[in-house]
Amino acid sequence: MTTTEKARILVADDDEALLNTLVWILRDRGHEVVPVSDSTVLLQRMAEELPDLLMLDIMMPKVDGLQILEQIKGDQRYRDIPVLMISSMSPEDGTVKSLGLGASDFISKPFRVKELLARVDAHLRTGMAIKEARDEARAHAAEAKARAEEAAIRAEMVDILHEVTDALKAEEIYHILARRVAHVLNITKCSLIVPQPDSDLGLVVVASDNPMLRNLEIQLDGYPEICKALETKQPVLVEDVQHDPLYERVRERWRRDGIVVPTKSVIAIPFNLKGAQAGVFFLRTLDEGVTLTQSDVAFADQVIKTAVNAIEKAYQLETVQSDKERYRWLATIDALTGCLNRRAFMERLERELDRVRRYQTGFSVLMIDIDRFKEVNDSRGHLVGDSVLRQIGDLLRGEVRSVDLVARFGGEEFVIVLPETDSEGARVFAERLRKRVTQTDFAETGDPLSITVSIGVACAMPDQDIPTPDSLIENADEALYRAKNEGRNRVRA
Ligand code: GH3
Ligand code: MG
Ligand code: MG
Repeated sequence: MTTTEKARILVADDDEALLNTLVWILRDRGHEVVPVSDSTVLLQRMAEELPDLLMLDIMMPKVDGLQILEQIKGDQRYRDIPVLMISSMSPEDGTVKSLGLGASDFISKPFRVKELLARVDAHLRTGMAIKEARDEARAHAAEAKARAEEAAIRAEMVDILHEVTDALKAEEIYHILARRVAHVLNITKCSLIVPQPDSDLGLVVVASDNPMLRNLEIQLDGYPEICKALETKQPVLVEDVQHDPLYERVRERWRRDGIVVPTKSVIAIPFNLKGAQAGVFFLRTLDEGVTLTQSDVAFADQVIKTAVNAIEKAYQLETVQSDKERYRWLATIDALTGCLNRRAFMERLERELDRVRRYQTGFSVLMIDIDRFKEVNDSRGHLVGDSVLRQIGDLLRGEVRSVDLVARFGGEEFVIVLPETDSEGARVFAERLRKRVTQTDFAETGDPLSITVSIGVACAMPDQDIPTPDSLIENADEALYRAKNEGRNRVRA
């Protein structure tokens, strides 16, 4: 990753302790940091400092962070300043709204320092590239604009590549693509649609204005531009949905059903992955928004092509691994559950403890044991028991962040390592896991099968005596033992 030059960052948070931490972390990185703890003077400070980046808490006692965000994004002077929202709200509540209002990104508390810094860097870089592009475009008009935009695209691509190699799950990649494309094009509504084979349905795999939306099916005949883009393999622009002939039949249906669709312009851009048509980027603006033009289409098409290219490269890096590397990887995996095995886990644990010593970052460990698992084996047989273990493994891996580690420690015991998570954060997370397990039916056939787990939490924090791997496991085990003794199906720290 390239380094970002020293930048001026304004950080607004009423939580003094957090504010101090952020200031410390960012200054350590060489940035000039302006802390603002009194939210009522934030706008005034913005005008005085004209920062390169703003980090803004969503919830402050005296003002509403989202309202401030709206004000800032509506002000010409600040339009290109990237805003990173910080919040302890659940993503459902905060992200959608703030991204819709023009925030560049959303970071939830408690945050991971490495991720925070990476995001700050990425947004500083794109913010600057876009600002340069806009300045240059203003000065030299048309043909210089193309060059400036190219520079912005390149900067964006470096970030995409960086982000993508960090997170290679297909779903996460789609999210990154949609978020980035929406960001660089300054369009909040960007979705990625994958046509379903042998049907007229399309799967909305991601929508940049609704990060929680997953795998919604739509009838493609309501989206003539998407159909046309898939058919012709060319980008399709509809400048004015309310008047374009392509939309005639759809408008008729809207009238008949009495629905008002506030869309102004739409662009559908088909993209290929590995040589085959993969899907369509679907961009739209609303009534009060701008009208999209051919030059937007050309720009969007170029961004998307470059982004997809970057992604493919990243994929190739993944698949071109040598057999030797693949075998080495296989040796770290538990065959039944696909989680890390115990030996690989103990190695990683050593590494994490090393990090506590070197980087002063703590972490937590969860020890998870299935309750009365012997009874499952006795009543349903070992094959069902095996299937439960596999499903628990899937469930745990589905719940964690990409930096977390999930391992099968032995028999019906699993462990999770949560980097940069304190005991309280780990307890909350463990509680969520515990609940998720109780809500799941583990029977693949026949009568429903409920399972519960008990969880013990232990931490390694830099300000305390740093434990050995064995003593850390022992602490988690003792907490687990308490959870069992106090009735099972609970979390103890
Ligand atoms: P507790 O709530 O105290 O944890 O009760 P428990 O029955 O879960 O604990 P116990 O340690 O007595 O039994 C664990 C059982 O897990 C016994 C063993 O047969 C079963 N087990 C361990 N590994 C596997 C496996 O790979 N497959 C299956 N099907 N069962 C396994
Ligand atoms: Mg056990
Ligand atoms: Mg057990």
